[in-house]
Amino acid sequence: MTYQGVLTKMASEFLDPIQYYLVFETDFINVNQLLDKTITLAFVEYQCLNCGLNKPIYRQGFCKSCFFDVPQAADWVMRPELSKAHLGKEDRDLAFEKKAQLQPHIVYLANSSNVKVGVTRKSQVPTRWIDQGAHEAIEIVEVPNRYLAGITEVALKEHISDKTNWRTMLKNDIKDEDLVVWRDRLKPYIPNEALAYVIESNTETLLQFPVSQYPEKPKSLNLEKSKHYTGKLVGIKGQYLIFEDNTVFNVRGNEGLVVAISVNV
Ligand SMILES: [Zn+2]
Repeated sequence: MTYQGVLTKMASEFLDPIQYYLVFETDFINVNQLLDKTITLAFVEYQCLNCGLNKPIYRQGFCKSCFFDVPQAADWVMRPELSKAHLGKEDRDLAFEKKAQLQPHIVYLANSSNVKVGVTRKSQVPTRWIDQGAHEAIEIVEVPNRYLAGITEVALKEHISDKTNWRTMLKNDIKDEDLVVWRDRLKPYIPNEALAYVIESNTETLLQFPVSQYPEKPKSLNLEKSKHYTGKLVGIKGQYLIFEDNTVFNVRGNEGLVVAISVNV
């Protein structure tokens, strides 16, 4: 059985364990069903997620010219504090920015390799945590726009990391933390503009990933270079496929690559 399509980040369903899906134009693959099977990944060509052309992918699934042009790759995406739609100011496309930024956003704490602070649209909870491979997370602030979430994150970053270590996350070298305690500890640093939006009454969300064997020394697969890879799938965590031989493949990091996936039976 062979499937072919352009990679975009895996869709997921918050079940126990989490279910993952690859959504291709003509196929919808429940990746969990490939667990314990030997699969071959092959690089076919590029397909920019915006223009669709076979041009090398620069970042986030876009070719270089699209990356510097499309509204979904503007600076405020990675740096929410730069959001300006609440002021009616355009960055690349005001209509797009209003729709994306002027909606409820969550500032959260998530623990994937260490406790970190992050921002996401409310509609992306718990998807964002699944994508990061967090085994526990908690919402701490719910604000009406992206800007307020961004300035809250910037203030909290002075006191807590905003990065995760993907190797630690994949090795499952993790510590259970009491995120309610972390939330209470960080509360004094929430900026005044966001204080009215602090969430006080919630508890941690726990996430279970479908992994039967964690890699001891994760080696990242560069499919553009190697063109082919064959291995036995032993887990899925975050946006990574984990193989028996310690190879890991970051699906999100390879958005815009057209791949063929064959399942060997
Ligand atoms: Zn393009």
